[in-house]
Amino acid sequence: MTGETVKIGVLALQGDFALHRKALGRVGVESAEVRKPEELAAVDGLIIPGGESTTLLKLMDGGRFVPGLEKFHANGRPIFGTCAGLIVLAREVLNPKQRSLGLIDVTVERNAYGRQKESFEAEGETTLEGQPRSLTMVFIRAPRIRRLGPRVVPLASHGGECVMAREGTVLVATFHPELAADPTIHHHFAEMVRYAAQ
Ligand code: GLN
Repeated sequence: MTGETVKIGVLALQGDFALHRKALGRVGVESAEVRKPEELAAVDGLIIPGGESTTLLKLMDGGRFVPGLEKFHANGRPIFGTCAGLIVLAREVLNPKQRSLGLIDVTVERNAYGRQKESFEAEGETTLEGQPRSLTMVFIRAPRIRRLGPRVVPLASHGGECVMAREGTVLVATFHPELAADPTIHHHFAEMVRYAAQ
């Protein structure tokens, strides 16, 4: 902890933004709902929650969010995309091909676990705190990361596959950390935001 006071925005156009705010509250971080690009000016980092990426993109376009988010990123403000949020941030999207912001150099395949396993909870492993340790992960019609660019650092795995990664100030997860009790990931993102705000 640096003692820095930061406020983290949660994109509140669609999806489970309220649970992300609760999770941030549990690690003692102030948060705000972001519905308009102008509101990005008042926050130090942004979470793009899960939901439905096609709908999310349409709502973002309607709200003219894309240039605002590109500027937010260019200014060094951290962004955390979970599930549909990851799909929106990825360099390349498959199944089907879909436009995306390209703020992290990964290729993701949407809805990649098949019908039998649309939603499931599983134990994965994370190296977020240095030593590998197990972490409960909730997957909901989750994407799979099929390619990681050379500057992308894997931070968690499930079944031998990367499910969480970071490139610079962009953090992504294929699962829903706001649905598990473990606050590690929100704490980690808050630390990224504090560091960037110094
Ligand atoms: N299946 C959704 C999509 O492709 C993502 C699901 C989620 O965010 N939980 O957009």
